[in-house]
Amino acid sequence: MRLNLSSTRFLSLYSGKITDIHAHIYPKNYLKELEKRTAYPVFRANPNGTSFIQFSDSSRSFPVTDSFYDLDYRIKEMGKFKITTELLSAINPWTDSFPSPELAVRFSRLINDEISTIVSQYKNERRFQGLATLPLLSPVDAAKELERAIDELGLVGAIIGTNVNGTYLSDERFLGIFEVAQRKRCLLFIHPSIPIGTDKLRDYGLVRSLGYVFDSTVNLVKMAYAGVFDKFPELKLISAHLSGALPYLQGRIDVAWKMFPESKGNLSEPPSNKIRKVLHADTISYSKGALRLASDLIGVERLMFGTDFPFEWGTENARKSVEEAFSDDELRLIYSENFDRVIKF
Ligand SMILES: [Zn+2]
Repeated sequence: MRLNLSSTRFLSLYSGKITDIHAHIYPKNYLKELEKRTAYPVFRANPNGTSFIQFSDSSRSFPVTDSFYDLDYRIKEMGKFKITTELLSAINPWTDSFPSPELAVRFSRLINDEISTIVSQYKNERRFQGLATLPLLSPVDAAKELERAIDELGLVGAIIGTNVNGTYLSDERFLGIFEVAQRKRCLLFIHPSIPIGTDKLRDYGLVRSLGYVFDSTVNLVKMAYAGVFDKFPELKLISAHLSGALPYLQGRIDVAWKMFPESKGNLSEPPSNKIRKVLHADTISYSKGALRLASDLIGVERLMFGTDFPFEWGTENARKSVEEAFSDDELRLIYSENFDRVIKF
């Protein structure tokens, strides 16, 4: 299927169910609580449309518009692009920038309770599913919160950053979270946090276009070398943005493992073999070639449609690129069936 058509024609071509697994939200109560704070992170609501959130005195402020928290607006946008279900997750850096683990726990619970309420509120029409935010400043509490989110809140997993204030998920402090995730058979959506090396990428918006995807790539490879996927071979990971640059760099990563002693680590097989056993990826890439490559290397049955709503990458761009890259049968898998299958088993 090759499309380069006007949006009206384009949007009429696929009429099946579409689940957006990469859709963000700032829950309203969370923003209200952030508004009361006098130290970072803070939210400042301004009536003239310049509301913003800021995480630290060295970070820039991020504009927050209705699209981040208003459910009516969100549902209208979903209708416009024929998205039937969204998998809701909070926005990076989640609760990692709070000054204490206790606050991270408190605010994570607040976010999770509200996402759970939203999922329940629209349960009959199956409009939303939800992912928990974990208080990663305290991995023990994060593991407990993941259990609570699955057992008590009806969420289907958690969103988890590629690094926590500079420490990749390969660090052994996070193993308890993976143990819970495997035992509960829930999803872990690995999403870029503030990328390591951000200071060198501030110009031209390179954090967004390059930093995020390379942080995803480095993190996955480090997790493989650390043996996380040997310890927990039944994890259900979804890596954001087509798993970063992994499909493109897989050959180089594996040949390095084969040829150079320092790249061998403790692995008995190439890093990408380990990663592929647990990996799913969303389709946010906007490139037909990259999507086909990921489909060859990760498997079309492991790709799931995403948009990064409400960030302005464009739901139409996201849909167009997958519909240019995949057949109708493949689209059905990517648009809904892969996600439905993975959350069930
Ligand atoms: Zn995102």
